[in-house]
Amino acid sequence: MPRPIAARIHADAVRHNLQLVKRTAAASRVWAVIKANAYGHGIERIYPALGNADGIALLDLDEAVRVRELGWTKPVLLLEGVFEPKDVETAERHRLTVTVHCDDQLDMLKAVRPSERIGVQLKMNSGMNRLGFRPADFEHAWERASAIDAIGSIGLMSHFANADDGAIDWQIDEFDAATRNLPGTRSLSNSAAVLWHPRAHRDWVRPGTILYGASPTGCARHIEGVSLRAAMTLESRIIGVQTLAAGETIGYGRSYTAERAMRIGVVACGYADGYPRHAPTGTPVIVDGVRTRIVGRVSMDMLTVDLTPCPAAGIGSAVELWGERVKVDEVAEPAGTIGYELLCALAQRVPVSVDAAVASEESETASA
Ligand SMILES: *Cc1c(COP(=O)(O)O)cnc(C)c1O
Repeated sequence: MPRPIAARIHADAVRHNLQLVKRTAAASRVWAVIKANAYGHGIERIYPALGNADGIALLDLDEAVRVRELGWTKPVLLLEGVFEPKDVETAERHRLTVTVHCDDQLDMLKAVRPSERIGVQLKMNSGMNRLGFRPADFEHAWERASAIDAIGSIGLMSHFANADDGAIDWQIDEFDAATRNLPGTRSLSNSAAVLWHPRAHRDWVRPGTILYGASPTGCARHIEGVSLRAAMTLESRIIGVQTLAAGETIGYGRSYTAERAMRIGVVACGYADGYPRHAPTGTPVIVDGVRTRIVGRVSMDMLTVDLTPCPAAGIGSAVELWGERVKVDEVAEPAGTIGYELLCALAQRVPVSVDAAVASEESETASA
């Protein structure tokens, strides 16, 4: 028997979350963001759930080609654009829309004569200070772009620095002022802005993390009222049980001391599986359907849980590390990170399966 750890991917949850985005930003088209191999879920595994998206957005040219090979005919957006001149050929061959965030990328497009014009998203740095033309230079960048033969339609985009904690109006104002005289579709919203900033929805939204059921803030509490479903369950089993007397300690560093006699379950999951080593005592976990907590330090292949609330649990009991009952952000937050990172960092050695039952698009739309 293989080690009992496994991840299950729920494509139907992605489909559900995408419908929620479509209802929330009803007037906008949706770029489904599937960079980083669909935030660790596997592009091929969740692809069947993306039928209602209007476009797919990602970073890697290889991933863009994979999406075309899967049969996707609608737009594909490269969120960082091209990296070197030969990428422009790939973009042309696969009809990719490219982000243009700097003059060097305009130069690369100027140097080619594609048979069909390439659609671009011209990116403004409205305050994130990562990629994009500054507001004062934006109109000039647009004029340069519109004079380049290889460039077809020009959409306008920007990205928020803190859509997750509230204040984004200043960035929207920067964007609106600098694009006042320019035609083209607008795209501003990541997941947080989709949920909480309708003013930013515009023509196209770009949700990533909420498609997978994780919180845009990294805090599970912030999405409590939102009916998102977890697209990944990480589960394992108890492979050992210890009964401790009061005063005994558990694991490396002896970081947890039993306050009283207690049963401890040893779970086949550790940081080499992608569970965060920094998750402290108290991080929630589900054993035999009951919510309890991890105790002691997470080791490479194992972690230990308090079996006090589930006295019937023993060897073989099912454990949910994260999923529908323990949100990935409930694990991430006490470990000092965000759900995004845990999902993307699921380890290679964890076997992954896909839920067979994927509701048809029609039935999801009907129930939406
Ligand atoms: C990753 C990314 C998104 C999606 O962000 P989420 O917070 O996951 O919704 C949107 N736009 C750009 C440019 C991105 O890089």
